[in-house]
Amino acid sequence: MKAGARVEQFFVVTAGSIEIVRKSAAGEELITVERPGQFSGEVSMLTGRPGLVTFRAVEAAEVIEISRDQLVALVQTGSELSDILMRAFILRRANLIARGMGDVVLVGSTHSSGTLRIKEFLTRNGHPYTYMDLDKDTGVQDLLDRFRVTEDEVPVVICRGSSVLRHPINGEIADCLGFNDGIDQTKIRDVVIVGAGPAGLAAAVYGASEGLDVLVLETNAPGGQAGSSSKIENYLGFPTGISGQDLAARAYSQAQKFGTQVMIAKRVTRLSCDRKPFAVEIEDGSRIPARAVIIASGVKYRQLSVDNQSRFDCAGVYYGATFVEAQVCVGEDVIVVGGGNSAGQAAVFLAQTARHVHLLVRSRGLACSMSRYLIRRIDESPKITVRTHTEIIALDGDECLERVSWRNSQTGTVEPHDIRHVFVMTGAVPNTHWLGGCVALDGAGFIKTGPDLTAEDLTTAHWPLARPPHLLETSLPGIFAVGDVRGGNVKRVAAAVGEGSIAVSFVHRVLHE
Ligand SMILES: Cc1cc2nc3c(=O)[nH]c(=O)nc-3n(C[C@H](O)[C@H](O)[C@H](O)COP(=O)(O)OP(=O)(O)OC[C@H]3O[C@@H](n4cnc5c(N)ncnc54)[C@H](O)[C@@H]3O)c2cc1C
Repeated sequence: MKAGARVEQFFVVTAGSIEIVRKSAAGEELITVERPGQFSGEVSMLTGRPGLVTFRAVEAAEVIEISRDQLVALVQTGSELSDILMRAFILRRANLIARGMGDVVLVGSTHSSGTLRIKEFLTRNGHPYTYMDLDKDTGVQDLLDRFRVTEDEVPVVICRGSSVLRHPINGEIADCLGFNDGIDQTKIRDVVIVGAGPAGLAAAVYGASEGLDVLVLETNAPGGQAGSSSKIENYLGFPTGISGQDLAARAYSQAQKFGTQVMIAKRVTRLSCDRKPFAVEIEDGSRIPARAVIIASGVKYRQLSVDNQSRFDCAGVYYGATFVEAQVCVGEDVIVVGGGNSAGQAAVFLAQTARHVHLLVRSRGLACSMSRYLIRRIDESPKITVRTHTEIIALDGDECLERVSWRNSQTGTVEPHDIRHVFVMTGAVPNTHWLGGCVALDGAGFIKTGPDLTAEDLTTAHWPLARPPHLLETSLPGIFAVGDVRGGNVKRVAAAVGEGSIAVSFVHRVLHE
């Protein structure tokens, strides 16, 4: 079986041996030799994506051949075998990633945000790649010349040694690597889930494990906001914490093990809700029919208007001020950006342990929505300075944030400060713009569900049933909302996971209505 072809067979070696090799710049590289009792495969076996390696017999060999479909069925039913195979597939993929043994070469520069975006996209999708840094690697120019690429066209992705993608968007990379190959977009799904953050992945695991035909659509990569967290310390069952990337990778494999299909780098642009089955439209214009839809599209935290901010996410720029973040800045100066309640709470909380808190507000004062008690505490604290008309204009540092520059918009003065921690508390915006009025939203644009829907909401939405909406059901029967995108959700991984799983039990009821 050749690298680049969809993985359709699984082999168990019974006699002789098979070699596992991959193409490399030097020709071919031997990865391992499988002998009697050993088997082929890594994560591509479950995802159905093109394989990264070639298997071949170099001596007389005997194998048991099983089709991918049979293997997936086996994994879902036989738990002992499932454990052995899942562990081996994930560890083999981790090994390929650690050794940079993929079918992708990324040529870029650590100073380019496009390079960082692609690195993040490949990493968060668990796809191994080799990285060549234009600034450091002397051999890179040869490679660029070979593909007639000029320096200003980087980042460049060389996909499977042949296609050269200049400045590609994530969707082009996904297409080139076959991330979504073999997914039937015309079939009516029991449930389509929009968003593969913790809420969407939890819904997918429960839905698929309970026999539903589940398709997940994700703009970027599995994991959502949680995937960008360096360590989640408060998620039940992980006493020493787990990185968001690890949690997302496990949840993604778990969803696929039960037969969920996940389309990557596919943004949903519209929900067609005027008749059943519903249809979810994606950016290339395709329409995916669905009997039920779970909206798990989360939120986007408002960011600073500084180009390289995302580079410091979790490395000096934070979106929450809990005990965990406070511990990393004990005795140091910190900046809190924002004038609302969350910024006020963060400033007061951090002032307990930080040396000094600079509260940066773009307007002429704290928001009138900020609670009186917070304003009083801020005024009374010698450790908090409110800097009005002030905005961050630059963030600097190598791997972590080291220096921040802010500007006073009234005086025009720019001040650089050696401050290593910025808390961005400027609110979150729900990803609901694509819903086009299909479901009722609250004043801040979050989706209203279940008991939060008033009689007036239901009348306006022409609620057609005698029963009231189920918990987590929107103003349109059969459309559910879970996780951060839902009004009243507490914005935690555990809450998102819990809601994703609960919604599935109501999907079953709706499908039988
Ligand atoms: C840096 C950081 C650290 C955090 N740390 C913690 C922590 O330690 N503990 C904790 O409990 N919580 C933490 N949180 C909060 C937690 O991550 C969120 O509450 C949780 O991720 C919400 O999950 P979700 O699935 O509802 O939404 P999200 O995680 O926001 O996922 C939504 C997904 O939907 C996708 N999407 C959006 N729009 C579309 C569309 N139109 N089409 C297709 N896909 C779409 C997005 O790309 C995303 O992948 C943290 C958040 C951040 C940002």
